[in-house]
Amino acid sequence: MNFIQTRGCDANKPETVTFSEAILSPIASFGGLYVPETLPELGLEFLNKHLNSSYKELASDMLSRFEIDIDNETIQKALDLYDKFDDAKNPVPVVKVKENLYVSELYHGPTRAFKDMALQPFGMVLSSIAQKRDENYIIMAATSGDTGPAALETFKNRANVQVACLYPDGGTSDVQRLQMVTEDAKNLKVIGINGVFDDAQNALKTLLASKEFNDALKEKNVSLSAANSVNFGRIIFQIIYHIHSYLELVRQDAITMGEKVYLNVPSGNFGNALGGYYAWKMGLPVEKIIISSNENNVLTRLIKEGKYDLRDSEVVSTTSPAMDILKSSNVERVLFDLFGAERTKELMNDLEEKKCYELTGVELVTLQKCFDADFCNGDEGKKYIKETFEKDGYLMDPHTATCFKSYESCSKPEIKSIIYSTAEWTKFSPVIANALTGEEDAKDLDALTSISNVAKLDIPDMIKGLFTKEITQKTVIEKEEISKEILKFI
Ligand SMILES: *Cc1c(COP(=O)(O)O)cnc(C)c1O
Repeated sequence: MNFIQTRGCDANKPETVTFSEAILSPIASFGGLYVPETLPELGLEFLNKHLNSSYKELASDMLSRFEIDIDNETIQKALDLYDKFDDAKNPVPVVKVKENLYVSELYHGPTRAFKDMALQPFGMVLSSIAQKRDENYIIMAATSGDTGPAALETFKNRANVQVACLYPDGGTSDVQRLQMVTEDAKNLKVIGINGVFDDAQNALKTLLASKEFNDALKEKNVSLSAANSVNFGRIIFQIIYHIHSYLELVRQDAITMGEKVYLNVPSGNFGNALGGYYAWKMGLPVEKIIISSNENNVLTRLIKEGKYDLRDSEVVSTTSPAMDILKSSNVERVLFDLFGAERTKELMNDLEEKKCYELTGVELVTLQKCFDADFCNGDEGKKYIKETFEKDGYLMDPHTATCFKSYESCSKPEIKSIIYSTAEWTKFSPVIANALTGEEDAKDLDALTSISNVAKLDIPDMIKGLFTKEITQKTVIEKEEISKEILKFI
């Protein structure tokens, strides 16, 4: 299958590219993104066929329908990485929380957040493409907490790929920072920046656009690539778990085959939600996709009012930091799918030039046939964490908690909902401890201990171990020095 471009084609790039090409340079003509030319039709027949399949069998068959230019052996090796999850037989458990509400837990991988679902297999695929082409790549990432650890974990010791990961020193949780600075593989470089996440991200953008930097890389025979969530190599692995979660509900006798469900997704860059949208288009019985946000609620306003407006918006820091995003990149792929390349280009140009775009009334109706949305602030989120723990015995993180508000405001109660849980409690423990016990400003280790006591849960070894592991990545620098530091590393 070939890939086409969301903003149409300029004269410089080919009309269509292969999957590998779309992975290696994910930015298409006019700054657009790559999308599959068509989506495979799966339908009920596929779902019935896989009712009793393992996650990997389901994944393998679904991927084969995309007919991508990756050999089967590589795909199998990539999928084998799900064996490292807590339960190799079922990497994504789906848990009933209360009547008609199920939580699909996407955080049972090595870094305890949902980024592993896509980055684990993606790392294997990218490295294998690089080896086959005999090329060397450097992946540059700026992270506010979850992407960094997951990218380092997947690329460590992989051939033909190096990673340089920038994080704001003091701007992540202790657990997230330790997950990065204790990585000791030779192909990884972790750099703390004196500043906030935006400084790290802007520094990265400047660097990627710098001719001097790119020339220096060329001289060293290294090409740039990106592992961020606009990369279709990540999106493709995010379709699978939506299908799996649906089949889990059928297996648990919660629904009958063909019954429609809500997919309720805590959203930032919209990769997770887009995976659900594609699964729906491929035949998954979905009533609607519900988009949950925090105080950074541009997506709610887009879906409710048809306006994507950044003119008076600034990112605010919240208790669900992985969703502190204003420019939600993957929305573009939905716009393309619904309204075509010409209109997408127009809307995205408006966003760049006027910091705002507006859908027509007809377009808004079309969008609302697929999506509904609401946002949940930090205090409401903590209330849901406490209530759900005390009433239903279910402990969740602050990202997942945002879905409980939209569950109440957007879904018809008689239709079952799948809420996606994107992080384990261990990754955002100070907020959860505060929600459960009222304690303020706890350090991660104290918060972990108090949650573990209240909820009678063990702290997983990989989290506990972080606090005694040697810190090997000690670089903390000013943002002006990043380029020098990275070139030294390569
Ligand atoms: C990345 C992330 C999200 C947002 O996912 P998108 O695919 O970017 O919408 C939500 N929660 C957590 C914990 C994350 O790490």
